[in-house]
Amino acid sequence: MASAVFRFAPSPNGELHLGHAYSALLNFNLARRVGGRFLLRIEDIDPARSRPEFVTGIFHTLAWLGLEWEEPVRRQSEHFGDYRAAAEKLHAFGLLYPCYASRKEIEASTDGRADPDGAPLYPGLWRNANPSEVARRQPAGEQFALRLDMAKAMTLLPDPLTFRTFAIDHPLKLQTAWARPGRWGDAVLVRKETPTSYHLSVVVDDALQGVTHVVRGQDLEAATDLHRLLQSLLGLPAPAYHHHHLIMDATGRKLAKSFGDTSLAQLRRDGVAPEDVRRWVDVAASSQNSNS
Ligand code: GLU
Repeated sequence: MASAVFRFAPSPNGELHLGHAYSALLNFNLARRVGGRFLLRIEDIDPARSRPEFVTGIFHTLAWLGLEWEEPVRRQSEHFGDYRAAAEKLHAFGLLYPCYASRKEIEASTDGRADPDGAPLYPGLWRNANPSEVARRQPAGEQFALRLDMAKAMTLLPDPLTFRTFAIDHPLKLQTAWARPGRWGDAVLVRKETPTSYHLSVVVDDALQGVTHVVRGQDLEAATDLHRLLQSLLGLPAPAYHHHHLIMDATGRKLAKSFGDTSLAQLRRDGVAPEDVRRWVDVAASSQNSNS
């Protein structure tokens, strides 16, 4: 499987912890096992939270763990033009609209439904906004987000929209799952404070980098619905997905905070050896396999 491409794509918003080591090593080991490639990508689209010292920390920590990745490393903050081009394509299909609503306004008008992340489902405040209201806001330079008109997007999708999944032990054996993007409502694809969003950039980059296998945490499983929708609308190839359990110990229980939340840099300073972390990941991975 020489053409298999895996990636680990951390956001440099803090120090890496054991959960990151788990995800990074699963990808790295799997790439090695099947003779594929392993890429590292820095997802630093968030100007308020990304910090250069966290980027440096990611390189140091992963090298300490024994990982090797291809150079150059793609940093999303250097590629806003690629995400802008994708947004323009969606805009040309008439699928994006500006939204000036604040979080407070959205919370105040919610009907109580939530998206899969638990945020209030966007009640469509600006979906059919009066063009004169938009025109009034624009010259003032007020920041706006671009949202996807989900109902309209759904009419352009194949029915049913599916994605391929695989188990860690059988990356070649693909199964089919149903995507349900509608549950995200009119998701934000271009944020107010940065010219893209996690969903848009991850889809563009996975395609540009030829990623064939995405291995990431279960907390991102529902996001795959939206990613499949964007791939379909933008005509991009779709990788196969595996969403791993969040960190567990050898008995299949979630790790205690005192250990699991400790940064890898701190464990290293405390004298923990990289082999200890790798052994722990192997145990956690085999406990995941025996539980799934
Ligand atoms: N950057 C995301 C994170 O750190 C992961 C993105 C992904 O693997 O799709 O949570």
